[in-house]
Amino acid sequence: MQSPMQPMQPMQYDGRVLVVEDEPALRIDLVDYLLARRFQVDQAATCRESLALLERTRPDLILLDLALPDGNGFAIAAAARQKYDLAVGIIMLTALGDEAHRLAGRSVGADIYLVKETSLREIEACCRNLLRRLKPTSAASTAAAPPAWHLDEMLWQLLTPDGNVVPLTATEIAFLKPLIAAPHIPQKRSNLSQGGDPRNLDAVVLRLRRKIEAASCHPPPFKAVYGSGYVFTGIPALSPLRSPESR
Ligand code: CA
Repeated sequence: MQSPMQPMQPMQYDGRVLVVEDEPALRIDLVDYLLARRFQVDQAATCRESLALLERTRPDLILLDLALPDGNGFAIAAAARQKYDLAVGIIMLTALGDEAHRLAGRSVGADIYLVKETSLREIEACCRNLLRRLKPTSAASTAAAPPAWHLDEMLWQLLTPDGNVVPLTATEIAFLKPLIAAPHIPQKRSNLSQGGDPRNLDAVVLRLRRKIEAASCHPPPFKAVYGSGYVFTGIPALSPLRSPESR
């Protein structure tokens, strides 16, 4: 029997993202970038449009602006949680330093908070990290993967177990790299301040500690060891992350 023409392979997407943003230029930037990075994208500029879309489609992720012309993003986050529970990831885009919004966002269970100044590349990294957590590639990896800390040297960042991004400086990477490579084994101060002055180490660690505490619900994954140096107390990721450029 003559077989008909082979149907075209459907486009493989890395995830479906609903972009909610009323500022047209920013929305277009986000949508274009995510489309170019192989995401399927829906978009909405108001609460009404967003809620209507949520009725028809289930996004994997929502990139959510908070201040919308007909209400605020919390209503959308609450509706998404009610309909899809934790199967949908919520990334809230907030104005710089808007702590009140961040705190309110926690109560509706947003997964990640980003300030609007965050680069598109970093937003993509957060999307991919959250997707990995929501939709692991195999059942085995779900069972085997405890919440871990990823040191991503390519992107100069630490990804926290709850999917937040902590941007790192060179000295912070020099501190974290030997620690995370040997969890639960104390590392000497001289080994953690490569090239720098070991006397500055405590200031580096204090700054890093504050950055992690601001970004994540998880406490910093290291502690000082009296008379020795520092030790990594968290669970490091087993495999290094790929940078977006390597795809
Ligand atoms: Ca807005």
